[in-house]
Amino acid sequence: ARIVVGMGTCGIAAGAGKVMNAIKAEVEKTGMDVDVDFTSCIGMCFAEPVVEMMSPGKASVVYGGVSPDNVVQLMKSHLVDETPMLDMAQIQILGGAKPYADIPVMEKSGYYAQQVRSVTSRLGRTNPERIEDYIATGGYAGIEKALSMERLAVIDEIKKSGLRGRGGGGFPTGTKWQFVHDAVGDKKFIVCNADEGDPGAFMDRSVLEGDPHAVLEGMMIAAYAIGANEGVIYCRAEYPLAIRRLNMAIKVAEEMGIMGENIMGSGFNFKVRIKAGAGAFVCGEETALLNSIEGQRGMPRVRPPFPAHKGLWQKPTCLNNVETFANVPNIIRNGGDWFASMGTEKSKGSKVFCITGKINNTGLCEVPMGITLRDLVYNIAGGIKDGKKFKAVQSGGPSGGCLPTEKLDLSIDYENLGQAGAIMGSGGLVFMDETSCMLDIAKYFLNFTQMESCGKCTPCREGTKRMLEILERICEGNGVPEDIDNLERLARVIKTSALCALGQTAPNPVLTTLKYFRDEYEAHINEKR
Ligand code: SF4
Repeated sequence: ARIVVGMGTCGIAAGAGKVMNAIKAEVEKTGMDVDVDFTSCIGMCFAEPVVEMMSPGKASVVYGGVSPDNVVQLMKSHLVDETPMLDMAQIQILGGAKPYADIPVMEKSGYYAQQVRSVTSRLGRTNPERIEDYIATGGYAGIEKALSMERLAVIDEIKKSGLRGRGGGGFPTGTKWQFVHDAVGDKKFIVCNADEGDPGAFMDRSVLEGDPHAVLEGMMIAAYAIGANEGVIYCRAEYPLAIRRLNMAIKVAEEMGIMGENIMGSGFNFKVRIKAGAGAFVCGEETALLNSIEGQRGMPRVRPPFPAHKGLWQKPTCLNNVETFANVPNIIRNGGDWFASMGTEKSKGSKVFCITGKINNTGLCEVPMGITLRDLVYNIAGGIKDGKKFKAVQSGGPSGGCLPTEKLDLSIDYENLGQAGAIMGSGGLVFMDETSCMLDIAKYFLNFTQMESCGKCTPCREGTKRMLEILERICEGNGVPEDIDNLERLARVIKTSALCALGQTAPNPVLTTLKYFRDEYEAHINEKR
């Protein structure tokens, strides 16, 4: 028998560590013949702490809401009496074994039926601290294959896949690699942007905690393709578990000769180090991030020159985010066509989203590009909490925008979200119900970007402050009708004149709430009068 505890940050925060201790104590006390292991987040954050139990020859059952108080009974019931506790069982994973009655099979359960598990395939299924688990599930076969290919053929495969930057910009990854490959420089760098800072976004943290080797392998493949031998992972210091698992992964990969000098006898050398960021949101902007790695103040640079030509230490640099790199090994292993067979015409593949807010199932999901918002809300997220009505979803964090009920049938891809005034962003979706005040939402996000503005350029530094003042005035009941025009005018100026994406997108939450919920702004102003 086997027991596996979900030990991602979400699980640990919900008490998985105590559950693990209780399981180990019971095993020691009773002498049960059972392996106790841990994994990362399987995605069902709403059910944490999550524990999986497996009896020989039987499907494994994932239980949710496990605590030190009920875990002993759960062990006895599932493993000794061979009777699953149905009220706590979330899903079962067949793996060729006979199913239990009355427990949803993972692939057919409401939460997972419309999901694909590509980038997240190992999350909740393998031990992220064991390289053997990674290799046994196809890990490092991608770099092995890449090393047998010409560099340009690797880039062509990524181009063929249609993979676009998952950090928010959506720039074609293969094209970016080509730019860096073609750039002239005696040294080139690979940089992984793991400075995920949007409120409501934890995709990158989950991938780093659950599959650190996939990110390393993706970086290695990119480094080989563009001609770099050195990489830096810029990870926010608020992700200590991700940093710890990355460090362990780097160490063991180096010890096994998978990373380092003359990798797999190919003559290709690669080393990588982690730089912990101190928590400035603007350091997610690629040029501010490069400044921060160099030890300078984390402020965006004027572009051009772009990092592909003059990046880290003024050398050609390829920057991609965690999820982008994590997609790369699968693409090289399975081929670009395989990846391109998922998704929409211009947005290929799958995307990891974090779904939070007023929904029943908060967590991490991976879906094919093109899924509708309605499917996300009512099937995967399990609908709005307490039977309330859906009102809006904030897509793309503070840089994104709110989408209302009329957009429920929007198919989610880079183009459609952009046209609706929101952005894909890195993949955070925060859901609102009928009781949410949209001005409060806009104020929250604008306050966030205003606080995080680095202050380098006037439109963002001053403009967001003025917008926030107006918004606060309206929320306090002291607004005047001209305030709406002024908000829109300021927003236009900031969007067109701010130096970096933080400022250029900061007005989006206000603009989209004004577009779709203007009546709420007017009501706030008129009610007071
Ligand atoms: Fe700094 Fe804002 Fe200007 Fe970006 S737009 S450089 S964050 S002040």
